[in-house]
Amino acid sequence: MSGIPLSYQGCDHGGKGSFGQNVVGARLVWYISYSCKSCGAKEEDGESFPPENLRNAVLKKDGYYKLIADCADRLTSIKAIRGVLRYPMETATTLLAHFPVLYVGTETEAKWLKAVVDEAGAASEVVGCDADLNETELAVERLMSEADRQTLW
Ligand SMILES: [Zn+2]
Repeated sequence: MSGIPLSYQGCDHGGKGSFGQNVVGARLVWYISYSCKSCGAKEEDGESFPPENLRNAVLKKDGYYKLIADCADRLTSIKAIRGVLRYPMETATTLLAHFPVLYVGTETEAKWLKAVVDEAGAASEVVGCDADLNETELAVERLMSEADRQTLW
């Protein structure tokens, strides 16, 4: 879950930077920080899902993680996740069919949703996926498209 190294954009001095995601309370946040001896330091951050190219770099480096419900109570956990990912009802129904897998994405995103599900009073755990996602993991990962993530920015 360490940061992704980036080169300083728009400078020729070899400045370095990094990108990462964090969970603050029950919020998902991301940051980009650059520093260059000549240009100084630059910080950018945001809440919710990060720019897609940076998110893809995290997935490439750290792999996919999943959030798995650790209790038989399907509705509490799925309702909590639907509350923040704003899934339409049909998507929530699909998610119900893939229970106990609640989410597939970056490790930080899975930890964020664990905090959300914790707050709702349901137990869950974050588990690393194998390099090749299985059918259920792929189906859950595809529930949220790039376009859906962008609407949550
Ligand atoms: Zn520079």
